[in-house]
Amino acid sequence: MRLCRFNDGRLGAVDGQTIKDVTAALDVLPSYRYPLPGHDLLIEHLDEVVGRARVLQAHAQTFPVEGVTLLSPVANPGKIIAAPVNYQKHLHEVRGDTALHNNNPGHTLTIQSTGLFLKATSSLVGPGHGAVIRHADRRTDHEVELAVVIGRRASRLRRDEALACVAGYAIGLDITIRGSEDRSFRKSPDTYSVLGPWLVTADEIPDPGSLDLQISVNGELRQQSNTRQMILNVAELIEMASAMYTLHPGDVLFTGTPEGVRPIVPGDRIVAAIARIGSMTVAVYSADGPVQATSGTSAAGE
Ligand code: MN
Repeated sequence: MRLCRFNDGRLGAVDGQTIKDVTAALDVLPSYRYPLPGHDLLIEHLDEVVGRARVLQAHAQTFPVEGVTLLSPVANPGKIIAAPVNYQKHLHEVRGDTALHNNNPGHTLTIQSTGLFLKATSSLVGPGHGAVIRHADRRTDHEVELAVVIGRRASRLRRDEALACVAGYAIGLDITIRGSEDRSFRKSPDTYSVLGPWLVTADEIPDPGSLDLQISVNGELRQQSNTRQMILNVAELIEMASAMYTLHPGDVLFTGTPEGVRPIVPGDRIVAAIARIGSMTVAVYSADGPVQATSGTSAAGE
């Protein structure tokens, strides 16, 4: 199933170019008093939500995908984990361009040496929000990535059991200011983690290691690759992450970007697509100007 969150927090089941409003499926979630759990409740109870959504969608109100504002399909991730330089050609690209590595030796190491990093959860938005450039005077790049949503609590997983803990997949944009600072600092401004257009449950993507992905800006193709080009595949990344910390339902793992990273500026229109997920349109704004919510996506990229 393709589950989206849209408008003012509604839940939708995506069917082609139509969204069926299954918000009432959220009634299966438990209610809490403070202190709240540190993970995402919808993802923890995804099977029950999907089961209820299947019943509800038969008589649900419908909306055209193009007519809604798409939110991040995960509302409350406990952490956003991300892989640096996980495509060989992107590593070559970084090593060959001072603007990308800034003479920081830590920016040109292999992922086996670097490990993973974390992005602030406050950086997360959906495609309908748009990306808001905070420092127009600094180079800020797009990075399209397969995003993995963890479905259950898991620690010290072996790679051969790792995919069993995946709830689903989405498209991630790991928007990045270039510079000398730590990755977690440069990649964590508000809106610099875009997740969308929806969550595709893992049963629809049995092999995340063979997905075409691409991104275009203002109609110009910038990055185009396939997830089989990853240095560490999804299972190996989960093994690496869970060796260091416990994974929780709703944790999001950005799996790294292929070659072709380039700057974005306010006014740009990004379209990112991954096979078997779809595509999403993300407008780029300036933090110094008015911020408008936009909508827009399509179910292309089958
Ligand atoms: Mn990245």
